[in-house]
Amino acid sequence: MVSTDWKTDLRQRGYRLTPQRQLVLEAVDALEHATPDEILSQVRRTASGVNISTVYRTLELLEELGLVSHAHLGHGAPTYHLADRHHHIHLVCRDCGNVIEADVGVVDDFTAKLRDTFGFETDMKHFAIFGRCADCAAKAGPEPDPAGA
Ligand SMILES: [Zn+2]
Ligand SMILES: [Zn+2]
Ligand SMILES: [Zn+2]
Repeated sequence: MVSTDWKTDLRQRGYRLTPQRQLVLEAVDALEHATPDEILSQVRRTASGVNISTVYRTLELLEELGLVSHAHLGHGAPTYHLADRHHHIHLVCRDCGNVIEADVGVVDDFTAKLRDTFGFETDMKHFAIFGRCADCAAKAGPEPDPAGA
């Protein structure tokens, strides 16, 4: 369940979430990395009248309020997290589709280099990094040609 902090936080900022919006937020909390479609089916268990455009509008609003944030784990729709829980980068395995969450600290050297060279502040959380997980790499065996497809 969602903690009560966001309720207090919103009230202090003068917002009130409608029951529908609250359901969307709770679905984001429960599912993690959920697409709008997945959030919709979760919300529909409680509120069958909700449609996909309501979910999109609500996610947009919740993102503006800083309660949720999104990440792209592939070519499809973005996936959503509670904003305060989204401090990781996503490593997506091309073979099995597994998503590994890695602390943003693992790319500190890389982002520092981009900052030094380009003055660029990099957001590594927004897009996933694709490759092959340890299990799939072991199954696939040694790469005969590392430069090949
Ligand atoms: Zn994530
Ligand atoms: Zn995006
Ligand atoms: Zn894998």
